Amino acid sequence: MSKLKIAELFYSIQGEGRYMGVPSVFLRTFGCNFKCAGFGMPKGELSKEVEDIAARAHYFKTYEELPLVSTGCDSYASWDPRFKDLSPMLTSDAIAERISEILPFKEWRDEHLVITGGEPLLGWQRAYPELLDHPKMKDLKEITFETNGTQKLTPEFKKYLLDWGMENRGYHRLTFSVSAKLSCSGEERHEAIRPEVVCEYEEVGYTYLKFVVATEEDAEEAIETYDIYRAEGFSGPCYLMPVGGVESVYTLNNRRVAELAMKAGLRYSDRLQVPLFKNEWGT
Ligand code: SF4
Repeated sequence: MSKLKIAELFYSIQGEGRYMGVPSVFLRTFGCNFKCAGFGMPKGELSKEVEDIAARAHYFKTYEELPLVSTGCDSYASWDPRFKDLSPMLTSDAIAERISEILPFKEWRDEHLVITGGEPLLGWQRAYPELLDHPKMKDLKEITFETNGTQKLTPEFKKYLLDWGMENRGYHRLTFSVSAKLSCSGEERHEAIRPEVVCEYEEVGYTYLKFVVATEEDAEEAIETYDIYRAEGFSGPCYLMPVGGVESVYTLNNRRVAELAMKAGLRYSDRLQVPLFKNEWGT
């Protein structure tokens, strides 16, 4: 039986992108190929917040006890190896059972499944089919992969997703929400911007780009980058979303980012989990 290392599994409202406001089960897998330590930092500087928390990592026994960060990646414990013991390896049986326990009616109705991370397409593509084919998942109708858009689909998983999407539910039931990383993340551009990878997702399911921005400069970079994807054949929409894993940062720039999105004719994505739930772990 295949297993997945699960950082978090919880029920909440999707706060971002296409499914904003939709009741959703979040399956957060462990592991990421990036660190995104530049978020919320002055240009060229990297956040040290996680270093300070990691120095006390052994004090934290659950995700709920972990501090929130205002800079860097707000889901740092889902990939940083120093927190790996908080994320158990679970069989697809155990995950499907746990999902049915947290669904309000103990079965899928209008809820959608968000497979997120970390980077959910990094190491787990072989494990998803067994989970998605589990009897307790048969009424699931909509899935989103929240990805950074750098991981190619394996031929086997691509075929599986095509069958899942086309046979039962339709192309638009499978979504790739691609949060491609701009320079404000601190990641190398040639590693973060991979249009050829994202165009392949588009062959399989409805795909959009979602850029985290803080400044006008970030917004300009997002627009230029979107043009690069489009030049490579990408045809999906593009969202601008304010930086800010904590409310004090988010409220500083959400209206500004909405205005920048309007000016550029792009979509705006909120982060509803920040004003609603303070972006606590498990929300
Ligand atoms: S890609 Fe996402 S999960 Fe990975 S470090 Fe960046 S923000 Fe965090």
